Amino acid sequence: MAQKIQGTEDLFGGYMRAWQHMQDVARELFGSYGFDMIETPAIEQVDTFVHGIGESTDVVRKEMFRVVSGALFENLLAAGSESGLKAKQRMAMRPEGTAGVVRAAVENNFVPQGAAPAKLWYAEAMFRGERPQKGRLRQFHQVGVEWLGAPDPAADAECIIMLMEFYKRLGFDLSQLELRVNSMGDEDCRPAYRDKVRDFILAHEDEMCEDCLERAQINPLRSFDCKNERCQRVMRDAPLVTDNLCDECRSHYEQVKRYLDAAGIPYEEDPTLVRGLDYYTRTVFEVEAVSSGVGAIGGGGRYDGLMELEGGKQTPGIGFAVGFERIALALEAQGSSLETPAPSCVYVACASPDERAAAFDVTLALRQAGIRCEADYQGRSLKSQFKQADKLGAPICVVLGSEELAAGAATVRDMRTHEQDLVPLAALPETVGTRLA
Ligand code: AMP
Repeated sequence: MAQKIQGTEDLFGGYMRAWQHMQDVARELFGSYGFDMIETPAIEQVDTFVHGIGESTDVVRKEMFRVVSGALFENLLAAGSESGLKAKQRMAMRPEGTAGVVRAAVENNFVPQGAAPAKLWYAEAMFRGERPQKGRLRQFHQVGVEWLGAPDPAADAECIIMLMEFYKRLGFDLSQLELRVNSMGDEDCRPAYRDKVRDFILAHEDEMCEDCLERAQINPLRSFDCKNERCQRVMRDAPLVTDNLCDECRSHYEQVKRYLDAAGIPYEEDPTLVRGLDYYTRTVFEVEAVSSGVGAIGGGGRYDGLMELEGGKQTPGIGFAVGFERIALALEAQGSSLETPAPSCVYVACASPDERAAAFDVTLALRQAGIRCEADYQGRSLKSQFKQADKLGAPICVVLGSEELAAGAATVRDMRTHEQDLVPLAALPETVGTRLA
């Protein structure tokens, strides 16, 4: 029997409706903030991710699913290396949304000189070659936003405010969510800070794990996220980015916090929050559902250098992404659910096969009137059609029998009270519609 790949899921039934519900909530909320939907390809050139996310990140080094066409795959195996591939032949499944959206913004010139900012949101599958576990999949789904061309700290605050409103509308008890914010500085102050952290790690060489010693050379800030307890203890005394911000970054961060305070958004400052991707500058934030045990349920930040890294002109940007599967788990842990019941439908039953053609017409007429309906396609008895209608949760059943049809009418049966009356066929859509409402 064919089986799905470990760390991937089939979305159907209530779980699928939950994903759609999350997108509906996003469409309405993000739309009210002026965001338009975008969809970029699921495969991009590897360089799109390498330039943006950074060569030294775990996502690029270890977790990206690489894609090769069938013909090239044979050549690649024979050559034993990808060095002969052209840039456009080196492809990967997107591990996150921002790099692709920014690539699209550069390619389609979304933010020409002097233009209003581009505000985009997406709902897409992402692919990461991680070790599958609860809340950590190899194909998962994210809703995210990217706001390009807005350097103002008000944009950072609005993004965070919109994110928290999103959780609220998804059904979260906000008192059970923890929002952490930080500023990571910019190209002026971060390089010196990185060097300080590198030197700090090297000065504690004996106490740090192998990975951290490697990180010290390529991406020292990642050591703040090391799972090793000894490293965590050492890193508690490491220099903090908030003590090393330049005046502009400090002022930007202060303003973001002032806006959040003004909007009454509770947050915690976490000077060790660094996020895994290289492109972040200044504001970064992450949200966790307290005691849900699923890790971060969303996060994001500012990336003022990313447009340039993707080959465009310098344009500021900020965004966030929220993972659907973790949201579903975290809501469940709060005793809530994203799942919406299947929408109810009207059932069109016929007493005998002689009324089948009339049932066909009635079903079409009801659907034309926008009424969701189902009928029998298996030649069941009237009794089992009623059973089926109950199973589908149909509040109303339209029953067609020879006598009713002779009178140009049908029986409309309320499935809860079992009350029924005769309604002329021509009046069915209106009558059924009114009763459903
Ligand atoms: P990141 O881009 O890593 O900050 O991810 C943003 C959000 O996507 C996280 O907060 C999670 O909710 C979700 N997410 C990230 N990686 C995974 C994964 N492997 N499986 C499921 N959800 C994920």
